[in-house]
Amino acid sequence: MLLPTLLAATLLQAPVTYHVTFPNAVHHEAQITATFPDVGKGAVTIWMSRSSPGRYALHEFAKNVYAVSATDGAGRAIPMHRRDPYSWTATTDDGTVTVHYTLFGDRAGGTYTGIDSTHAHLQMPATFMWAQGLDARPIRVTFEPPVESKWKVATQLLPTKDPWTFTAPNLQYFMDSPTELSDFQLRTWTVSANGHTYTMRLAVHSLDTPAAVDSFADMAKRIVAQEEAVYGTFPRYLPGTYTFIADYLPWVSGDGMEHRNSTSISSTGSIAHDALRLLGTLAHEYFHSWNMERIRAEEIEPFDFTRANASPELWFGEGFTNYYGKLALRRAGFYTDAQYARTTGGALNYVLTAPGRTFRSVAQMSMLAPFVDAATSIDPTNFGNTYISYYPWGEIIALGLDLTLREQYPGKTLDGFMRLMWQRHGAPPERSYTMQSLQRDLGDYVGNQAFAADFFRRYVTGHEVMDYAKLLEPAGFIFRRADSTAAFLGFVQLDYDSTGATIRSQTLIGSPLYAAGLDDGDRIETIAGHPLTAPAEWTALEAAHHPGDSVEVTFVQRGMTEHKTLVFVADPRVELVPAEDAGMTLTDAQRAFRAAWLGSHVH
Ligand SMILES: [Zn+2]
Repeated sequence: MLLPTLLAATLLQAPVTYHVTFPNAVHHEAQITATFPDVGKGAVTIWMSRSSPGRYALHEFAKNVYAVSATDGAGRAIPMHRRDPYSWTATTDDGTVTVHYTLFGDRAGGTYTGIDSTHAHLQMPATFMWAQGLDARPIRVTFEPPVESKWKVATQLLPTKDPWTFTAPNLQYFMDSPTELSDFQLRTWTVSANGHTYTMRLAVHSLDTPAAVDSFADMAKRIVAQEEAVYGTFPRYLPGTYTFIADYLPWVSGDGMEHRNSTSISSTGSIAHDALRLLGTLAHEYFHSWNMERIRAEEIEPFDFTRANASPELWFGEGFTNYYGKLALRRAGFYTDAQYARTTGGALNYVLTAPGRTFRSVAQMSMLAPFVDAATSIDPTNFGNTYISYYPWGEIIALGLDLTLREQYPGKTLDGFMRLMWQRHGAPPERSYTMQSLQRDLGDYVGNQAFAADFFRRYVTGHEVMDYAKLLEPAGFIFRRADSTAAFLGFVQLDYDSTGATIRSQTLIGSPLYAAGLDDGDRIETIAGHPLTAPAEWTALEAAHHPGDSVEVTFVQRGMTEHKTLVFVADPRVELVPAEDAGMTLTDAQRAFRAAWLGSHVH
């Protein structure tokens, strides 16, 4: 028998239950009933989340619920009063509130819910109302698939004896558990490390053949193995499984979102045509099961569903993960050295040619996530000039740090540092990190706090970038201007017609167009006396000049005709190429360095 106090505690923990049906899936609706028991007498506040874990902006999920009503424990109607755009109050006399509502969802991706005749791709914050103050309650959810559908369930929620009922220990876990109901193709395999064995599940909802899914599962296996080798251990996946929820269909939106024991990855592409690109997203999201889900920044733990969330360490959580996603593809043999150089060169080119670096450090860029990551305001921003994504910027910091460690501290690598981060922050009991602890951890790893302080001051909270040409040379890669003799007027989008061209993008600081005062919306009448009527004329204009040359431009800005001079600059674009592709022969030392860095780490 239970002691009275335990009994009371058990009663207080009566689970929140949800029941979900899809009588109108073709029109993207679900009918949802949420029951909140043992809430006492009085008013209960019921929320639709405003934000979703892993995506930091406000998405205001309340906009897609309607036909909202409430009943008490006896089934009597009780009033629902809307407090504000996101929440309601319901007043009960018998301690139970049951809310009924219709949900509309037509965007299957990492943040939103998509319901149609083929599936229900549920992101929990976009789908489920929750009651304030009941965060610690266990949750029980039952899905009722459409009759005659062949739907099954893929989720990190905990299974029960009923194949349609799942549980979560609390609200944070429930909200972190995307759930796919569809006739997906399932592939499973087991992995073990340090005496623990886990089942990996790949649920693919796509039009691909079973053979294509088989081969993609083999590719995923190799990525999982390379990423495990970085840490030397798997996270403790609950309940002994990790689930890839993959939707590769023309009617979904491309995305990738990390969760604790699963990921939601989606693309309009197919395994048949885009396997490598899809694998790239899978590799990135899977690495998050260590770096982000367990090695986690203090600012985003726990996640607050009632506001935008931000962290100044996304350059580490996202950027270092970007670095390792690409590295895993190279180490597993899916990229050649030339392909690895091309994709890494793309990140270097973007960060080093963007003007934003003078305005903000990578830590400050990270705090802009709520405004740049699927954020939805409609007024223009100056981000072309003032923002650089913390994904590629963080990625090139990881690249530079890895090479610096390998060159300055024999035996030390970024893999080694990630292992230290795992031991200190990710392994149970998990301890979130801060900017200060991250710097201290790096100092401890190399036994040199001054090195870490200098590194953070210059590259993380400062605006400097490392000398990549020098860092990449020992690995046999050449980092250089793609064409330093070419003349350049600026990155710009132009709308051409038979009499001229209209600028349809921001002009960027440092470009001749910006310097001459041209801006978005301006109409270019002539350059060097000729109208611009086709992209080929723009290309020919740059090709016919040298850096330092000047030409006259006539344009209309806000109704006024202006005459200015454009002075060509040298093309700022950079590229990364394997030395052997530039006609050089690698030394033995370069060959060994590259193999230790980019070669397979699975033995
Ligand atoms: Zn990510």
